[in-house]
Amino acid sequence: MATMKCPRCGSENIMPNLRIRDRYERGLGQDLEVEVQGNPGALIFKGAHRETLRATVCGECGNVGLSVENPKGLWETYSQRENS
Ligand SMILES: [Zn+2]
Repeated sequence: MATMKCPRCGSENIMPNLRIRDRYERGLGQDLEVEVQGNPGALIFKGAHRETLRATVCGECGNVGLSVENPKGLWETYSQRENS
């Protein structure tokens, strides 16, 4: 496996694929998600598709890169949505 390097500072202290937690009261939380609506003009059935966000963080300078777990699922919804 190739060593990852920070695009900002060049450090190899990279922590990939970290969960991004949204914190609620009492310590409950959930992972942040990106949402694409298949039919944004609809009142109710917007056909939303969500994918969990993951962060890659540099342990040296704190640079953060974001990605989603399943981008193809999002793209499928985005590319099929109606122009409204
Ligand atoms: Zn860095």
